Amino acid sequence: MITNCIAIDFDGVLRKSNRYDKTSFGEPSDGASNATKKIKDLGYDIIIHTCRGEHEHDEIAEWCEENDIKFDYINHSPINRTLKLAKNKPNADYYIDDKAIRFEGDWESVLCQIDKSFEIVELDDLEKIFETGDAIRKQRTAQYGNFQEGNRNQGLLWTAMIQNYFGIRLPHSIPADLVSMMMAGMKAMRAVSKGVPFHGDNYVDMINYTKMAAESRVLLEKEIAEDVDAEK
Ligand SMILES: [Mg+2]
Repeated sequence: MITNCIAIDFDGVLRKSNRYDKTSFGEPSDGASNATKKIKDLGYDIIIHTCRGEHEHDEIAEWCEENDIKFDYINHSPINRTLKLAKNKPNADYYIDDKAIRFEGDWESVLCQIDKSFEIVELDDLEKIFETGDAIRKQRTAQYGNFQEGNRNQGLLWTAMIQNYFGIRLPHSIPADLVSMMMAGMKAMRAVSKGVPFHGDNYVDMINYTKMAAESRVLLEKEIAEDVDAEK
């Protein structure tokens, strides 16, 4: 359903801090005023979507006025209003929130983002380190999309930088598998650097980058074979 409404969180999004402070809302976040104006110009109504209770709504409205932040409703949309559902989640086309996790059909990636425990792995928890590898990769894919495309672009960028830096021309751009291998190498270097304590994620990343390098290499060889076939 198109509502022409955008719901925006108050704490940590319109106001800079997300720390609950009853007495003062403090500064607005950088660019908040301008962004709300632009959203209005695009034809959307703005709903401030907050956990703060109704007794604070007047203060929120005043603060927005003082800081030149545009909005239309607090905690309800015009559609909710007609349906007398003001206490429900407001109908909106988009929800802008500092604590949101984007759901794209993959619950595992959502759970990964809630459970940050894999980021700190103890030395005696090696099994967990390797179990988390696939989960981390899923999370990265959810965040940044498929790695092949990203690595290709990374390769093009590095190629351009090297060529400019040395004033040379490489015979071809750095391929995706080499990008992954170089990243694996970087993690290996990090893992063996003198004085650096053990971080399980270096090893997990190294494994993942090596897997990615292999996948890219297989894909690349397939593409080359297809090109050769096409030329025949
Ligand atoms: Mg918030």
